Amino acid sequence: MNDQIRVRFAPSPTGYLHVGGLRTALYNYLFARRHNGRFVLRIEDTDQARKVEGAVENLIETLRWAGIEYDEGPGREGDVGPYVQSQRLPIYHSHVQQLIDAGTAYSCFCTPERLDEIRQKQMAAKQAVAYDRHCRDLSPADAARRIAAGEKRVVRMKVPLTGEMTFHDIIRGDVTIGYNVLDDQVILKSDGFPTYHLAVVVDDHLMGVTHVIRGEEWLPSVPKHILLYQYFGWSVPQMAHLPLLLNPDRSKLSKRQGDVAVEDYRTKGYLKEAMVNFIAFLGWNPGDEREIFSMQELTEAFTLERVGQSGAVFNVDKLNWLNQQHLKLKPAAEIAAMLRPMLAARGITDVTDEYLQRAIGLMRERVTLLPEFIENGLYLFRDPDEYEDAGVKKSWDAEAVGRITTLADELASLAMFDHPSIEGCVRLLSERWGIKAGKIIHPTRLAVSGRTGGPGLFEMMELLGRDAVVRRLRSAVERIPVR
Ligand code: GLU
Repeated sequence: MNDQIRVRFAPSPTGYLHVGGLRTALYNYLFARRHNGRFVLRIEDTDQARKVEGAVENLIETLRWAGIEYDEGPGREGDVGPYVQSQRLPIYHSHVQQLIDAGTAYSCFCTPERLDEIRQKQMAAKQAVAYDRHCRDLSPADAARRIAAGEKRVVRMKVPLTGEMTFHDIIRGDVTIGYNVLDDQVILKSDGFPTYHLAVVVDDHLMGVTHVIRGEEWLPSVPKHILLYQYFGWSVPQMAHLPLLLNPDRSKLSKRQGDVAVEDYRTKGYLKEAMVNFIAFLGWNPGDEREIFSMQELTEAFTLERVGQSGAVFNVDKLNWLNQQHLKLKPAAEIAAMLRPMLAARGITDVTDEYLQRAIGLMRERVTLLPEFIENGLYLFRDPDEYEDAGVKKSWDAEAVGRITTLADELASLAMFDHPSIEGCVRLLSERWGIKAGKIIHPTRLAVSGRTGGPGLFEMMELLGRDAVVRRLRSAVERIPVR
């Protein structure tokens, strides 16, 4: 392999893509794009107990939605596949054997009961819980005999008993971790599957990964991984550990304080552009005042050097604001295409593209999330079937009924039904009656939309068209009881 930059996103398929996972994927993707590198997707499914049906498909679909395309991975085979760890077992087995042969790993026959016993003892004595290295010095011949006799075993790596390791992290600088806090990590389980630690090292090496960019929770594992690289005689990729994601109260981001699955935000109607923009800022910033970024702009601006060390707060208000900004930027035709299925779900299928795009133009400044176009603007597509109580109380009385009746007649015969003409008509009536225009405007809005607030009334009436407006005014007169 040449010196091209290669990075990977290596999720475990747990059923959904966590927002932290989306950030890891995004940073890897941006880094690869910026450096003309390759972005690899690898599925880390060695924990068979945590397997979830459909999880991989869901993950890939969520990445695709966000616009994060991988160059190699499941369904996009490259030269170093397969990209699903459960399909690579023979590769791990031969590597584990290599370590056993070199004496840097050993078979451990301790039963779960024995391990539990030492754990209990250590806990009772308030000691750190760790394997007591009981099998570390078994002779290879003994071990081979016990394996041949069918005894269950795991394989553990040997960690030096004393000393420490210092390594460099692009984000955290030099990090030192003592070997005394490391266990003789299991690298091959009794079910024949490798653990994460072995598989990640073997795969990152065989897949030519040059930069490991992932969440900070993996930082303490780095010494184990570097030891494995050394045992295999391989060079170590560069490392970058991304800061933790925090709730607004600065506790670790948790489900309890809000959604953590990307698909939940997607379902709620957040735009992928806003989601990506928001996620990019969880730990990174461009170093200037800019806040609104497209994927392309992120690709040009992103560097690992500008990723900070301190935890990044997941602030939904900021996400909402960004969603509004991206809604304003998005072409109406694209928003229209996203609204069509939502309209259809309410049985609204007869709206023309032109009408829908004009409706979007009226509403886009007033919504945060996509579904609000329809929830708050349903009256743009069908006559209101109820009227806000507050509005009825405030502006609907016998006088209003008389005025709305006259207004309906006037509008029915207006030469042009555009918003300046409609406005002119309302103003003329208010002068004729010697009242403020608001006395007409409020009950008119109520009658036409059922609401007390919304986009500019005259533009809205122009969009609805003369027939609908006159029909709605007259029907309100009949339907809203006068207080
Ligand atoms: N499978 C690990 C995870 O889901 C990947 C960690 C890594 O990137 O090395 O977090």
